[in-house]
Amino acid sequence: MSQRASFDVLVVGSGASGLAAAVSAERSGARVGLATKGSIQACNSAKAQGGIQASFGDDDSPEQHAADIFKSSHDSADMRLVEILTGDAQNAIHWLEELGVEFTRDSVNGRPSGDRGGYRLARCGGASAKRLLQVGDRTGHAITKALRDAFEAGGGTLFANSPLTAIAPGENGWRATCGEHELDAATVILAAGGRCFRVAEERGELSTNHPNATGEVTRIALDLGAQARDLDELQYHPNGGAWPETMQGYSIPETTRAYGAVLLNADREEFTDSLGPRDVVSQAIFDEVEKGKGVETEDGRPAVYLDTTRIAPDDAEISLPYMLRRYRGAGIDPLAEPLLTYPVLHYQNGGLTIDTDAQTTLEGMYACGEIAGGTHGRNRMMGNSLLECVVFGRRAGRAAAEKASA
Ligand SMILES: Cc1cc2nc3c(=O)[nH]c(=O)nc-3n(C[C@H](O)[C@H](O)[C@H](O)COP(=O)(O)OP(=O)(O)OC[C@H]3O[C@@H](n4cnc5c(N)ncnc54)[C@H](O)[C@@H]3O)c2cc1C
Repeated sequence: MSQRASFDVLVVGSGASGLAAAVSAERSGARVGLATKGSIQACNSAKAQGGIQASFGDDDSPEQHAADIFKSSHDSADMRLVEILTGDAQNAIHWLEELGVEFTRDSVNGRPSGDRGGYRLARCGGASAKRLLQVGDRTGHAITKALRDAFEAGGGTLFANSPLTAIAPGENGWRATCGEHELDAATVILAAGGRCFRVAEERGELSTNHPNATGEVTRIALDLGAQARDLDELQYHPNGGAWPETMQGYSIPETTRAYGAVLLNADREEFTDSLGPRDVVSQAIFDEVEKGKGVETEDGRPAVYLDTTRIAPDDAEISLPYMLRRYRGAGIDPLAEPLLTYPVLHYQNGGLTIDTDAQTTLEGMYACGEIAGGTHGRNRMMGNSLLECVVFGRRAGRAAAEKASA
């Protein structure tokens, strides 16, 4: 049934960033509406497997984390945003724990290890220290479930199956058309994710993304005059599943490489640093195939090997159980034979320009998560997107609530 309703804060999108924003806005005292395209569960965030970065290691710091991001971005990230991201990271992890997320911990003689807060930390591509926290290899699922539970326990109003199709300045802020609903709000938070599913379809390529990742909300904001940065820069995940057919487009977690898997060419030789920055590793695979040193899948697609047999079985059981289950279900045991892999479209590096409160260049319109640009510059490190969703989702929620009450 169509509705007219009015809120202090309207959040668009129910991935990790939208949910974090909605929960934070509500806890800051705002009346919150949450409009999303499909069901509340439908998003990229829930598909994230690998993990979330935070500098808990004894040999690590927020400054070191920030330096790694800047380097991986080829000096293009906005350092004001990066310093917030890495400085708030531990706090974000503890907030998620309060909401019920149980990060995987290392144990010594059956007891949580005293190091690094006890977290099991992995090193991801481009990182100078072990920094990736995980919930097995279903980290995004665990985080979005906890955030959904928190949202549903609060007083926010959900509009499922209600895609944003138009928004314009209204009497007291913004008026948005979301599905059949006309929603007024003093402030709006855009958290509708990236566009890699649509672009992959247009290019006839594979993508790791959820079908709702189509980017029209970015277009709507640009048409209103919002500024964006690095929007041309789309990221390939180095390790898309290439074979068997049922695993095509699956993103083989980068943690396989963190736990010892390496990339090999047709001659079973290593041809790149398997834990380099994502764009470098993807390019190395493209180049190797171009040189004729790749292999072909049974349906004629290009690929190289990811030698997962080098992963210690204990590490695989603790940190990669979902990946093992998926491949074994498809008839391949990654601990007994290498996987066939090739880069797939994965992430929109750039997005709407935001300030340190996640406000776009339009007054009262905020953006967080993959739809926003700057935090990763032109090349994101793995594990920093979920972190960005939580850190900037919370900031956007708080700032939008405060502005709405002013
Ligand atoms: C397979 C996979 C694995 C990944 N692994 C990791 C990882 O290990 N670590 C990491 O940090 N990152 C990872 N990422 C990246 C990360 O998960 C995403 O970039 C991040 O979660 C995006 O969150 P978001 O809230 O910005 O967007 P999403 O989670 O994509 O949510 C966007 C929401 O907006 C909704 N929406 C879209 N259009 C509209 C519209 N017109 N109106 C209303 N709602 C709309 C969607 O339905 C959805 O609910 C992975 C991504 C994928 C796809």
